[in-house]
Amino acid sequence: MVNQNLKLIFLGPPGSGKGTQGNRIAKELKLDFISMGDILRKEIKERSKLGKEVSNYVESGKLVPDKLILELIEKQVDRAKSSDYKGFILDGFPRTLEQANGLKNITEIDKVIYLKCNIETIVKRLSARRTCPKCARVYNLVTNLPRKDELCDDCGVKLEHRVDDCESVIRKRMEIYETSTSPLLGFYASQLNVIDADLGIEAVYRKAKEAIV
Ligand code: AMP
Repeated sequence: MVNQNLKLIFLGPPGSGKGTQGNRIAKELKLDFISMGDILRKEIKERSKLGKEVSNYVESGKLVPDKLILELIEKQVDRAKSSDYKGFILDGFPRTLEQANGLKNITEIDKVIYLKCNIETIVKRLSARRTCPKCARVYNLVTNLPRKDELCDDCGVKLEHRVDDCESVIRKRMEIYETSTSPLLGFYASQLNVIDADLGIEAVYRKAKEAIV
């Protein structure tokens, strides 16, 4: 039986599968999937004021300032909590201790799913990663191919390779993950469920599901 109002964080380095697994599990459990990276990329694509403010950070793999991110997440969580609210999965947030402390003032969290992954797996995965610009579904040209050419199975739209998924930016993002985000493992120690994310997609999915339901 699935807990109602499930509030989850998917934590892990870039490329550990937070988006792939989080999206799938959110759909299945009818939870809102809140991906901070997707929200920022949408703003950049629409050339909004916020998009212009954050594009340099996102494209070079640096973290967007905490204040901005906390304002965004508060709005998203409020929206998720309205009407037929069943809970949410947060992907790519929080990424700093300041963000985690800010989140405490916005909502409580039930579980943190930590996708533990080694750097060489990450570089390999992200270099082959492709994303649907319309629905943000994630594919991999080696392990998780779309059915047709490089088109999204759901939208039929041409998949994109993110500008920050090149090796030099991936390594920069990993450095930032180590210094700024990995301290969250201590912060959430009592709620942490560790999953070996070097395994294949289906094995990680099963283990993450077991940890959640
Ligand atoms: P992601 O799609 O999660 O890999 O995020 C892509 C980029 O968006 C990151 O490299 C950052 O530049 C920015 N970003 C996403 N989430 C956050 C966050 N919680 N705090 C600061 N910057 C973020």
